[in-house]
Amino acid sequence: MNQTDTPVNSIYLCSPVNALVEGLYEQKVPFTRIKKHGDFGLGTFDNLDGEMVMLDGIIYQITSMGKVNLVEETALTPFVSVTFYRPMSHDRIENEMTYEAFLEWLKGLFPSPNIFYAVRIEGEFSYIKTRSVPKQENYRPLVEVAKEQPVFTFENISGTLAGFFTPEFMGSISVPGLHLHFLSSDLRHGGHLLECRPKNAVVGVQLISSLELGLPISLDYLTVDFKRDTTGDLDKAEK
Ligand SMILES: [Zn+2]
Repeated sequence: MNQTDTPVNSIYLCSPVNALVEGLYEQKVPFTRIKKHGDFGLGTFDNLDGEMVMLDGIIYQITSMGKVNLVEETALTPFVSVTFYRPMSHDRIENEMTYEAFLEWLKGLFPSPNIFYAVRIEGEFSYIKTRSVPKQENYRPLVEVAKEQPVFTFENISGTLAGFFTPEFMGSISVPGLHLHFLSSDLRHGGHLLECRPKNAVVGVQLISSLELGLPISLDYLTVDFKRDTTGDLDKAEK
């Protein structure tokens, strides 16, 4: 499938998030393939080597040391979520908001909790708290890894939050609810968002009504047992 065949408002996942939760950190999906499905999104890298954020087709890695690297398209990934970002609306935040107020306000921009949304928030934040993940061998459950996650906090920082809202009932496919990754304007900081207080920002929202899900043809994936309910693990690992 080439870019022109891809429906505009479609989200692409190269693997269900359940596989990541069960510790399958090596699926060897190249970003050359990912980029056929989107220019915007988030995810990680093979061996869980940091957080990934893609903005305007550029792939950034935020390592567990908090360093930001530009990543070649030949890099490999076990899990990403991407789309071709085309916002349908823009809203402004002009006063500082608590994280709770921000989440509530953002929810008000979504006409329904039953479809996907791509969300891009650009501006100034009085506070940002992120985490990254340390590089791992396969098979260590994500919830164990997340216990050792390095956490970073920043005050008065400008940058971009990028990610998705996923319907609650799709929790085995992607992270349910809001999932955002941060990249600072100076390209020096970032990570998986844990908390923020935006104060002056533009919020773009894109409605997404279609999903394309890749299922890895790897021995790990073909033989993993998905009977376990991973809802609790995913919640602990991602929130
Ligand atoms: Zn994340």
